[in-house]
Amino acid sequence: MPLDSPSLIVGNWKMYKTREEALDYINELAEKVKGTSNEVVLAVPFTILYSAAKAAKKTPQIKISAQNMNDAKEGAFTGEIAAKMLTDAGARYVILGHSERRRYFGETNEFINHKVKRALKEGLIPILCIGESKEENESGKREEVLRAEILEGLADVHLKDGKELILAYEPIWAIGTGVHAGGKEAEEAHSFIREVLKEKFGDEIASHIKILYGGSVNPGNTKELLTGKNVNGLLVGGSSLDVNTFDHIINFNKQVNE
Ligand code: PEP
Repeated sequence: MPLDSPSLIVGNWKMYKTREEALDYINELAEKVKGTSNEVVLAVPFTILYSAAKAAKKTPQIKISAQNMNDAKEGAFTGEIAAKMLTDAGARYVILGHSERRRYFGETNEFINHKVKRALKEGLIPILCIGESKEENESGKREEVLRAEILEGLADVHLKDGKELILAYEPIWAIGTGVHAGGKEAEEAHSFIREVLKEKFGDEIASHIKILYGGSVNPGNTKELLTGKNVNGLLVGGSSLDVNTFDHIINFNKQVNE
């Protein structure tokens, strides 16, 4: 995305922060986002959703996301959470298919596909994560993996205009490792993803689907990563936990222009 266009910056807090820590963070962030045209989404733990959404209400630039959900509408699934409970708590987005869920909780493309359809039905914007492992990358299988994750994860998905779905390219080898894809490599993957989306949904709808990059984003590599024309934003894990570090990512173009 050209450097002067607004980007979508999503912070994924994973299993960190109490409610009090979250509220302090959101109050500070509300001041910091005044300097940027970028949109910000915080993907918070379930227990924080309601208070975070309430606290963020006065700052339209900050939206709240969940990090997971079940595919069923409701039912006897102890410990699970339904899409409509997330919207009821104030979430607008939900991260689906994160590699940690695929790896530690055995989530398959098929299961993720059911979740994507449920999220869309209930009015949540899914942030569908896809990405290859180190071995797949080194053996030249990146495109094969991405194609399967897109087509299987989005099987029978019909979109109105493309704005109701977000994809996140998160190479597994880059998540939490400190090793990020270079700007050129990220753009190459994103441009491939855009082509697959065009095949599936047609040019017009595919052009409105935001594709985020995720994997060891930090204030130092933000500018490089956002340079690609198909990179519409970032999904940030570790560097979103501290509000000042996250501020440097969100406000990177302000700092660039200063
Ligand atoms: C993530 O978990 O989605 C992520 C990108 O993590 P990190 O930024 O810490 O690599």
